[in-house]
Amino acid sequence: MGGVSSFSRHSAWKTCRLCDLSDGGPRYDLWHVLFDCPKTSTLASVVAVRDACQAFVLQLCDLVTVAVGCNGDSMSNTERSGVSHSDIYDAELRVRDAVPGYLWDCVPGRWLVYTLLLALPFSERVVRPNAPDPVWLCPPKRKRGGVVPERDLHGMPVVVPELPAEQYVLPEALGWLYDCTVLSSDSLRPLADAWCKFATGNLLRVGNAVRPLRAAVDVQLLTSAVVLQQQNDDDSRSGSSSLDDGSD
Ligand SMILES: [Zn+2]
Repeated sequence: MGGVSSFSRHSAWKTCRLCDLSDGGPRYDLWHVLFDCPKTSTLASVVAVRDACQAFVLQLCDLVTVAVGCNGDSMSNTERSGVSHSDIYDAELRVRDAVPGYLWDCVPGRWLVYTLLLALPFSERVVRPNAPDPVWLCPPKRKRGGVVPERDLHGMPVVVPELPAEQYVLPEALGWLYDCTVLSSDSLRPLADAWCKFATGNLLRVGNAVRPLRAAVDVQLLTSAVVLQQQNDDDSRSGSSSLDDGSD
């Protein structure tokens, strides 16, 4: 099965050239920068971005409230086509209730920060993986040309850990809010604009924090490459001095 090799390849992405000079992997992995890299995840501005994402959950709730109100006034009021606006308010309350006690420093919490930073809504159904039977290990349902196709397990973990249920509480509540919030596009526009502005601003903030560190490492790598090249040149020159008398 290709899963194990995929997993070890995935594990090898746990460094970057900032925390491991020999790392020749992907140049910029946002998850690593935000949560794993000892050189970037503790920077004040990166911590501030994570805090801003956490605080943005309640701002999203406020924006949904406004959007529901606007939708009620809209020509294309979705309530007339069977969308329950009281379900939206209930979903919003569920989110507001889940926020105060939520401990963000867990994989679902980090994932939530990541989706907020990327302005990426999701369905409640995708939040909690089926740990004993993850979807990517299910047998393919369709045959291709009469043959069961190989599953693509690239980058997929072999084992899905069973996490405590409370780690999923806020991500699931927010996923349910996204699921319920079916409104006219004109009433959702201010929410979408505010979220995209939030995401752009904070992604740039992370980039501004990381760029000088990366530039410094690039200079360091370039300098050591030049020094190495000079040593090689010196070595080959002294080694070939009998041929060219060392005169140049
Ligand atoms: Zn790193």
